[in-house]
Amino acid sequence: MRFLLAVGPVLLSIGTGSAQNAAELASEPAIQAALQAAKRNAAHFVSEQIRICEIPAPPFHEEARGRELERLFRQLGLENVRMDRAGNVIGVRPGAAPRPNVVLAAHLDTVFPEGTDVRVSQTGTLLKGPGIGDDCAGLAALLNTIQSLQDAGVKTFGSLTFVADTGEEGLGDLRGMKELFGVTLKDRIDDFISIDGEALRIVNTSVGSYRYRVTFKGPGGHSFGAFGLANPIQAMGRAIAKIDALEVPAAPKTTFNVGRVGGGTSVNAIPAECWMEVDLRSSDKASLEALHAKVKAAVAEAVREENQRWKNRGAASAAFEQAGYRPPGVTAADSNLVRTALAVTRLFGEPGPLGESSTDANLPMSLGIPAITIGSGGSGQGAHSPEESYDTRDAYLGAQRALLLVVALTR
Ligand SMILES: [Zn+2]
Repeated sequence: MRFLLAVGPVLLSIGTGSAQNAAELASEPAIQAALQAAKRNAAHFVSEQIRICEIPAPPFHEEARGRELERLFRQLGLENVRMDRAGNVIGVRPGAAPRPNVVLAAHLDTVFPEGTDVRVSQTGTLLKGPGIGDDCAGLAALLNTIQSLQDAGVKTFGSLTFVADTGEEGLGDLRGMKELFGVTLKDRIDDFISIDGEALRIVNTSVGSYRYRVTFKGPGGHSFGAFGLANPIQAMGRAIAKIDALEVPAAPKTTFNVGRVGGGTSVNAIPAECWMEVDLRSSDKASLEALHAKVKAAVAEAVREENQRWKNRGAASAAFEQAGYRPPGVTAADSNLVRTALAVTRLFGEPGPLGESSTDANLPMSLGIPAITIGSGGSGQGAHSPEESYDTRDAYLGAQRALLLVVALTR
């Protein structure tokens, strides 16, 4: 059963998953105590955020950071703490009943390769370091949420499962989520919330993406002696120019990016091989598929032109290798999860418009499991750049909001 209830200026959906409104919930003594604890614990979790960020977690190598989260989950008193096959760290805070089971997650991995200097500098509330916001801020909010629930001895009806997951970034291709939803907690997750991004944002639309590497090949040869052979790099140049000229819809926002290129042998050699990595995105499946088809056609056309230009001497070719696919998806604005998130967020101020992004929530959304991504409270800049920074002022609000939300969802 579900009905609408007006509480002051706040309109709440009271569904079976949140049989209590946000304002009432926030005024319960145990919850009050937990919210105060989240504020009190904030300084500690800023130093934890720094410490965790300084444990490198490059793509596919999140284990060291994962082991530390595993240790912290145990120390915080979670039960059944474990690391699954994909390196996800899981810990349970049982409620009176196993269901609903609400999962709160943040990702372990960063975009930064092995060997990146991950030291963090701090100037007042401003932290600077690769990964400090994305997603060490999420991990800190996750830990603060657990600590504050424990400090206040909050009891929930359903259960809470906390996850520090792998493979969110880049070519990780959501491998942590695939394992979590496909194996580790298959059919045992009722609501999924990831903490990723800044302020008090709520993301209910998942931007889908295709990522692939296109490899161009030819026989290669001496730049002077073999002049006249088709040139894979020049074919790729034609392809990039065609991709650059593609028209894409502004709404739903649909984008393309040639993000990396490589290849060649020497300045005085016609290359035998080169490659480019391409990322295509849209929250709309049809727009994404249409763009995908256009990019494939552009590459084929570029190769054809290059071979014609050189009269098919030492013809070039191109091969696609898919490096990732994230399905687009939406959790409806009138779903219990989104309504509860909005109601809870309103206690902290007027929520902005519901957002779209590409996050861990893509996977559950594509499976029809209610999922959103929420901000970690502070404000971040320069994510995915070595200059990344994160201002922890008011970051405790992120933990408070996450705490209220997950408790509300277990009711
Ligand atoms: Zn992230």
